[in-house]
Amino acid sequence: MANNDKYFETSVIHDGYNPDYMLGSLSSPLFQTSTFTFETAEQGERRFAGMEDGYIYSRLGNPTVSVLEEKMAALENGERGLAFGSGMAAVSAILIALTKANDHILCSSGLYGCTFGLLTMMEEKYNITHDFSDMRTKEEIRSHIKSETACIYVETPINPTMKLIDLEMVAEVAHEYNIPVVVDNTFSSPYLQRPLDLGCDVVLHSATKYIGGHGDVIAGVAVGKKDFLDEVAMTTLKDIGGVMAPFDAWLLIRGLKTLPIRLDRHCDNAEKMFERLRQHPKVARVYYPNDDTHPDYPIRQKQMKRGGGVLSFEIDGTKAEAQQLLNSLNFIKIAVSLGDAETLIQHPATMTHAVVPEASRTEMGISDQLIRLSVGLEAWVDVWADLEQALNQLQTAGTYTTVKE
Ligand SMILES: *Cc1c(COP(=O)(O)O)cnc(C)c1O
Repeated sequence: MANNDKYFETSVIHDGYNPDYMLGSLSSPLFQTSTFTFETAEQGERRFAGMEDGYIYSRLGNPTVSVLEEKMAALENGERGLAFGSGMAAVSAILIALTKANDHILCSSGLYGCTFGLLTMMEEKYNITHDFSDMRTKEEIRSHIKSETACIYVETPINPTMKLIDLEMVAEVAHEYNIPVVVDNTFSSPYLQRPLDLGCDVVLHSATKYIGGHGDVIAGVAVGKKDFLDEVAMTTLKDIGGVMAPFDAWLLIRGLKTLPIRLDRHCDNAEKMFERLRQHPKVARVYYPNDDTHPDYPIRQKQMKRGGGVLSFEIDGTKAEAQQLLNSLNFIKIAVSLGDAETLIQHPATMTHAVVPEASRTEMGISDQLIRLSVGLEAWVDVWADLEQALNQLQTAGTYTTVKE
């Protein structure tokens, strides 16, 4: 259920928009405008003073963007949604709003590369320090909390090794100290995981990925308490200026309508790839949240509806062979990003995580043999056939018989 009496599948389509107010237009209109006219000077004065509702200028709010924000608030079960020009615009606006000079941020032990870059910059410029915790136990989390700790920032599943963090447990510890928990929910989308329901305070997304789902937009969104996001809207969003374009909001509203259908297909296909990859002799290990032999599996069962569409695997070979594998594919595309209709493959050590220093990379489990796959919406048999032929081209010690359904 979303945060009302409707099922999620109905909310993605109907929440946040009512055609009655838009001349009956079934599809939410695109308000491709930078500014809004006032009928009188006094009306302009009232709008700026906050005494009258209404739009002023699209950096402060836009009706198409508002529809997306309301939809996302309903889907994440939060009070308010706020849209941004990219996932990183959301991450930076939220983290800058929550901190001041000399504060401290406690992070999960794996982070999106640019989030890591942002934290490094905040430390250099404002002495806002950070450290990492694997967040396995409450004691482990408590041991990192200082009087300056301003927030806890978590990604789960952790990209690209797919380790999971128990969000309910993190929220319980954070609230002992009155510290907010921010969750980057990009890999799961609200269909698979809802951090606010687990007690976390702010959830954010790179909407570029599953929310949009079609690889045609860069965007971000955050959901949380109305007071906090109203403040972000009027400070680090408005004044730093990373706003979402109306057309991008329009594309995301369209993409969202099929989110549950797409996600179920992504998960079905990823499960098939997981089963087959782990049986291939050139594959040393596979990381996928739905692995019932993995110690994190109980966390998956507790907080995620399914395992998601992304998995990673290590080949039994060299960096050159990992690159050869990517080069030998027929239709699977070599590209970063995830959550698109197309299956995408990339090499984290030299692509998404190339900015992370090698020592930290090793600590995060990102070897030169690791490959990340964002499983698309194609027929899984074709996806596997492409992967399998590329794997079979790598030198194998033994003989290998094709796995058939
Ligand atoms: C892509 C991504 C981001 C950044 O989003 P952009 O839309 O590219 O700015 C942040 N976090 C995660 C987990 C991502 O995958």
